[in-house]
Amino acid sequence: MLRITELKLPLNHPEEALAAAIRDRLRITPRDLVRYTVARRAHDARDKMDIHFVYSVDVVVKNEAPVLARFKRDRHVNPTPDTGYRFVARAPADYSGPRPIVVGAGPCGLFAGLILAQMGFRPIILDRGKLVRERTKDTWGLWRRSELNPESNVQFGEGGAGTFSDGKLWSQIKDPRYLGRKVLTEFVKAGAPPEILTEAHPHIGTFRLVTMVEAMRATVESLGGEYRFQQRVDDVHVDIAADGRRRLTGLTLQTGERIDTGPVVLALGHSARDTFHMLHERGVHLEAKPFSIGVRIEHPQSWIDDARFGPCAGHPDLGAAAYSLSHHCKNGRTVYSFCMCPGGTVVAATSEPGRVATNGMSQYSRNERNANSGIVVGIDPARDYPGDPLAGIALQRYWETRAFEVGGGDYKAPAQRLGDFLAGRPSTRLGSVIPSYRPGVQLTDLAECLPDFAVTAMREALVAFGREIPGYDHPDAVMTGVETRTSSPVRITRGDDFQSVNTAGLYPAGEGAGYAGGILSAAVDGIKIAEAVARDLLAGAQGA
Ligand code: FAD
Repeated sequence: MLRITELKLPLNHPEEALAAAIRDRLRITPRDLVRYTVARRAHDARDKMDIHFVYSVDVVVKNEAPVLARFKRDRHVNPTPDTGYRFVARAPADYSGPRPIVVGAGPCGLFAGLILAQMGFRPIILDRGKLVRERTKDTWGLWRRSELNPESNVQFGEGGAGTFSDGKLWSQIKDPRYLGRKVLTEFVKAGAPPEILTEAHPHIGTFRLVTMVEAMRATVESLGGEYRFQQRVDDVHVDIAADGRRRLTGLTLQTGERIDTGPVVLALGHSARDTFHMLHERGVHLEAKPFSIGVRIEHPQSWIDDARFGPCAGHPDLGAAAYSLSHHCKNGRTVYSFCMCPGGTVVAATSEPGRVATNGMSQYSRNERNANSGIVVGIDPARDYPGDPLAGIALQRYWETRAFEVGGGDYKAPAQRLGDFLAGRPSTRLGSVIPSYRPGVQLTDLAECLPDFAVTAMREALVAFGREIPGYDHPDAVMTGVETRTSSPVRITRGDDFQSVNTAGLYPAGEGAGYAGGILSAAVDGIKIAEAVARDLLAGAQGA
């Protein structure tokens, strides 16, 4: 099979135009084209008067070798890469070594657990939160009734932080082994729409994620894996081996139960602040890492569609328009859009009482009235929270507490019209844009719950963004704060063997450990960590 990339066709092309374009490109007759499949489809909307599709297609021709030879200097015609996943290890049928433990049932833990189960190691997956359906009720409790359950919410519970999200499934990680393809293939098996395998910017939306997470649990269980919910890990036990090396030997759960362990995957997510503190106290090596802080911004989706797609706005093949923006400011800060959710809603994303944090989500249809995105400013430990590895957490907590107070102390979020934010005055009324955040917003001055440098940078950047997307800096756009959980404020540093640099047997993974950002990259990291654990278990079994 051969792959053609960069095959361009107009927006409204008939289906047969693709076959014709393949034949033209390869200069072959209809009889020589046996079949083709679409490997990837993107749209190019850089020129809104000429929006077109860009395809990669896998093609079977009657006689491939001469065709490939003819195009050997053409970088857009190549043999199709082998994107299939191969297990790096298998547990022997009589395997009686330790069962690996995975802490966290978010995308990273789900894939670590799935791969370990598929390799025959019967993992035990622990999560502090509840089963996804019960968790959904608790999450809605905050959004509808201002009732926060600190152990079952948008951050904690089956499916992890990405469950109530836009379900964007792309990433810019280097992926030479096509592990992202394995993730998407498993998602499709679990009920995701098959087009996620071909769309350049696939997304799933919240409702489907819930059922997919359940389907994946059923698969892991059918392979001998075991899930235990409402089992927060509260302590780790570390022994010093004869060679002086620290080694993890056990976990204590919130129930008081102690489990003696083999390898433990720590896929905690970025909000497990209490667990980070516990690990630090137990001497596990942590370091502070950069993250970002800012607000969510909302515009009517129709403004973004018009600005991005011009006369093609509303075209069913284009869907709701997305954007990605970045601006380097005079004060040395960079402001960028983060986790943009077309046709979605801004959600309450705190996991701690007395704090407010925002994020965004959408359904598969992306047909809510507003587009929303984080508008955030990059911060780093050297400049903004020096010293303690946990200082970034303290900073997040400080601004989330301010947001709670400024929002009125009942989980409403502080919000402001963009025009008032630029003018430096509190908002007293909304304009044409109605904020979607539940349980509601308190109009105020967002400068009261953001660092001064962030306010200065955002004021400059929002005007610059208005030059890129006309209407972006419209005075009625609504900003809701604060967006603090853009990525983990700590790294649980690991070595080349994927284990903690100072605690053998502990495998930090995913977003919370600082090795991923987003659903897809967290899931890919889960696969890599499962492979490392499996190798370790097999080496142990052979040595025994
Ligand atoms: P998490 O998903 O955070 O999972 C960690 C799990 O560990 C949780 O289930 C938690 O309960 C559990 N846990 C924590 N501490 C303990 C403990 N001590 N004991 C036991 N269990 C514990 N990313 C995208 O790519 N696309 C999007 O569209 C997107 N939208 C988002 C929308 C929202 C509202 C949010 C909050 C996030 C969104 N993200 C999105 C980010 C994405 O969800 C994360 O990058 C991803 O979930 C990280 O995966 P993870 O498995 O590393 O951690």
